[in-house]
Amino acid sequence: MSGVPAVTGADEHEGLPTTMRAMVLDEFGGEFRLEHRPVPRPGHGEVLVRCLAVGVGITNELARNGVLGGSVPRVHGHELAGEIVSLGSGVHGWSLGEHVTTSFYLLCHRCEWCASGRETLCENFGGFIGVAVDGAFADYVVLPGSNLVRIPGGVSLRDAGIVGDAVATPYHVVTERLRMRAGQRIAVLGAGGGLGVHMLQMIRAFGGVAIAVETSQQKADEIERRGIADAVFVPHGQAWAGQVRDVADGAVAGVVDTVATSATLDEGYRALGRAGTLVALGHVPGSELPIDPERLLLEELVVTGTRYATRAEIARTMELVRLGRVEPIVGARFPFERLEDALRRARDAEVFGRIMLDVAVG
Ligand SMILES: [Zn+2]
Repeated sequence: MSGVPAVTGADEHEGLPTTMRAMVLDEFGGEFRLEHRPVPRPGHGEVLVRCLAVGVGITNELARNGVLGGSVPRVHGHELAGEIVSLGSGVHGWSLGEHVTTSFYLLCHRCEWCASGRETLCENFGGFIGVAVDGAFADYVVLPGSNLVRIPGGVSLRDAGIVGDAVATPYHVVTERLRMRAGQRIAVLGAGGGLGVHMLQMIRAFGGVAIAVETSQQKADEIERRGIADAVFVPHGQAWAGQVRDVADGAVAGVVDTVATSATLDEGYRALGRAGTLVALGHVPGSELPIDPERLLLEELVVTGTRYATRAEIARTMELVRLGRVEPIVGARFPFERLEDALRRARDAEVFGRIMLDVAVG
């Protein structure tokens, strides 16, 4: 349990330190700076969470560069495992000391999409945690109580931070975007990255056949060593669609492109078998995909994007992790002060699996 006493009531902030560490971005494209600032207080409907570990991925680089909107100065960070240490007024159903993660999205909870279980398409989207409001690259973060998802006992707090995005996003892809059936063959491009390694495992957890496409021989070897894919290959050259089709005997039911440049999307589309689905999971601004409408029609192909995961999907993913069906893979850990080093590794795509920033766990 926490070394920080948590008390509730009118003076609920008593017992917490008055200041905290925060990594602050002053301008888009700039570097994060360590700042000591007052511990924030939760307002109505909000909770204060002590951050234990926070995931670091390419999304954080997009946020740093202003691609995800928001404003500066800002504390980034959204893939967190933490502990509730203070409750604002009007928060029901949550208790001090509970371990939680959060949805990355600020939702309206009243539009058609929120009500229909497709909340990541919210019409009144309020922006991202750690982009529109301060996030988890800090000792403490204030979150809307409605954003929280419980981390069940049996899930390592050291690893739980990445479940809310890097593991839950693949759950959404498999169940909603691919609508995969057991036995189908699905290729994952960028299979050794933070999303890729969990995508492979999620496909197999649902009975699919996972084909890993990975340009790094080192990462491909590690996928093989861990046994998280049914087939692994390093493409020779830029044109790898034929190689994927060969590995899958032509029956590629889906391609999940975690990279999503114009070149990879085009190859992914070419690799699809009949009635196959191409899922664009990466986010590279300016990427384009030329579509052959005749093939789209004659083979009933589907091209789709995918947006994150709902809170329900995060909760179900936590359960899969607790049961050991999917294992969070953290390939590198950095102490809090070395956030810039962690982000550099994310940008260079060197690390197998996800990168973790340890805020309060050693
Ligand atoms: Zn909404």
